[in-house]
Amino acid sequence: MQFDRVVGQDRIKEYLTNSVKKDNLTHGYIFEGPKNIGKLEIAEVFAQLILCKNSKEKPCEKCPSCIKANAGSHPDIHILKLDENSIKRKDVDELQSSIYKKPYESKKKIYIIDDSHKMTVQAANTFLKTLEEPPEDTIIIMLTINKDLLLDTIVSRCQIINFDMLASKEVEKILIKEYKIDEEKSKLLAGYSKGNVYKALKILDGEDKTLIYRDEVVDMIDEIFEKGKRAVFDYEKYFNSRKDSIDEILDILLVWFRDLLFVKEYISDMIINKDKLETLKKQSSGKNSIRLAEVYDIVQNTYDDFNKNVNYNLIIDNMLLKIQEV
Ligand SMILES: [Zn+2]
Repeated sequence: MQFDRVVGQDRIKEYLTNSVKKDNLTHGYIFEGPKNIGKLEIAEVFAQLILCKNSKEKPCEKCPSCIKANAGSHPDIHILKLDENSIKRKDVDELQSSIYKKPYESKKKIYIIDDSHKMTVQAANTFLKTLEEPPEDTIIIMLTINKDLLLDTIVSRCQIINFDMLASKEVEKILIKEYKIDEEKSKLLAGYSKGNVYKALKILDGEDKTLIYRDEVVDMIDEIFEKGKRAVFDYEKYFNSRKDSIDEILDILLVWFRDLLFVKEYISDMIINKDKLETLKKQSSGKNSIRLAEVYDIVQNTYDDFNKNVNYNLIIDNMLLKIQEV
């Protein structure tokens, strides 16, 4: 396995490689970042590289250690995955009995704990004890969506590696390459993913309602552009029913108006909602580019207004009235 199995995260790959090269490893790492961003995959390559017998720059893939790591059968790489919402007692017992033993065949033994924030208190305490007096030959890598969910005493003893949100271009590449989703769909999902492959996949399977909301928003813009002010007040009810999802609705508005502008300016390779191209063309025709661009600021300001706790309906009405004037 090589680091390029994960798209992006170059800063982290370089840092981890350098730590191996310079023999500058620590006993505890916390990989923090959203789901499906490549934490586990990078941890696996890191472990393989640490144990590789031939190279300190990239796993050689040929030595017995690399071969076992690739087969998932390396006796000194222990990967604990969450089970039934928390890491099981049995796993912790195994861990406790193995952690003070010598590695089987390598200089070090490595523990990778996925979703480490779901550890039971007992498991967490085992790791804490280990981190307080770490055996020379042990490295623990804890993966989590948020380090604040771990014990402070654990966090303070580990090196924190923050995974970056991906650029939507990178998410798009992953969807095409790893999930075999076609280009147009990948661009659409990536455009709404906020840099999170996991969210993109949820949008695809409908668990995330972004595309449903998008259809509602598109219909709304149609109505507002057609009927003007009259339509604005009709939508009060709609926005009240969507109060809990208002951030997502505003995100969709931003992406949609950006696309309207791109259609207007013939920048077609940037368009995210390509499947709605005809609607985009219809809505942007006769509109002024500068006014379309202004909607971007208007929606941004709407976000800020919510944070200032101004009356919800008033903010929405203001926004829609300005959209109506475009
Ligand atoms: Zn090797």
